Amino acid sequence: MTDTFDRAVARVRAGERIDRADATALWNEADDATLSELATLVRARFHPPDRATYLVMAIVNYTNVCVARCDYCAFYKFPGEAGTYLLSFEELVKRIDVVAGLGGQLVGFNGGFHPDLSVADYAELFRRLHAHYGERLAFYEMTIAEFMFVAKRSRVSYADAVAELRAAGVQWITGGGAEVLDDAFRLRHSPGKYKVEDFYDAQRAVLEAGLGSTGTMVIGFDESFEERLNHLDRLRSFQDERLASGGRALASFLCWTYKPYHTELGGQEVSTREYLRHLALCRIWLDNIVNLRTSVLTRNEDALLGLRYGANDFDLPTEDEVTQKAGATVSLEFEHILGTAEKLGFTPVKRGPWGAAGEFRAARE
Ligand code: SF4
Repeated sequence: MTDTFDRAVARVRAGERIDRADATALWNEADDATLSELATLVRARFHPPDRATYLVMAIVNYTNVCVARCDYCAFYKFPGEAGTYLLSFEELVKRIDVVAGLGGQLVGFNGGFHPDLSVADYAELFRRLHAHYGERLAFYEMTIAEFMFVAKRSRVSYADAVAELRAAGVQWITGGGAEVLDDAFRLRHSPGKYKVEDFYDAQRAVLEAGLGSTGTMVIGFDESFEERLNHLDRLRSFQDERLASGGRALASFLCWTYKPYHTELGGQEVSTREYLRHLALCRIWLDNIVNLRTSVLTRNEDALLGLRYGANDFDLPTEDEVTQKAGATVSLEFEHILGTAEKLGFTPVKRGPWGAAGEFRAARE
């Protein structure tokens, strides 16, 4: 073992922040048991060691029309292609009611970059949805990626766009659509989507307006370890900035894995082992984000092992067409999944959506 590795381990044990050299040494030299132990140490600074929280949710995809052409996406259709759709309000309500019938507590919306939609269209939709569902359901109304596109399309600043959405009742614009936040990665795979600093400008505007947001990451494309670290490094700095501002900060961090089926990019899925090691590194690195979530949607029951690699929270998803099109499978055997968490030594606690500081609210039954 190198001196850098020993220093990294000592820093984690002492509750100190690690740097890039430490992270690289941990990734290259730590065995799985050591990474699990260190991530569990960091987790215990935020959460009771034997508790895992979860909620039942779905991602409802309201349109598959998209002009971004990301090569890792199996979901989108270009405008005018056969098979495009844009759900009406009534169709959306039907889809959401199915989720609610399955015990869903939260619905996240995710769609493509539809060239005909404006901020006003989104505001009108969410105003109607909030009026229809009241407090019965919580919503993750948009992702930062969609928000950026529609603000630009409508030729309004991020601040003005978020003000209009907020007035319509929007509460969350999550960090979805981040994949790997590294400009070289973006140039290789989705050059038309956004630049990294632009992403953070948009997310800053969202948080400054008092809306909630989250950090996300997807691994398993062709990204290098350095690119992964660039993503985590920028994210940690951004969260430092938000915490120092005294305003809202990111409530959680979720990492999932790329599904390569039916995409232009193709490739192979990363192994569960690599995912778990990466989760552990995220938990150790992101010492300023309270909640780390593991992805049942893309790893199924293996995701629960993530609770031993620093994660404290997971979703029980009922649908997400984007990842399902690329090979994800959804199980509604919730009791079985929760039983797996129990067998691993965790008590699953149903929660509500995150609050402003990353605390969870009481679950609504
Ligand atoms: S990942 Fe999102 S932005 Fe990229 S092509 Fe697919 S739907 Fe469009």
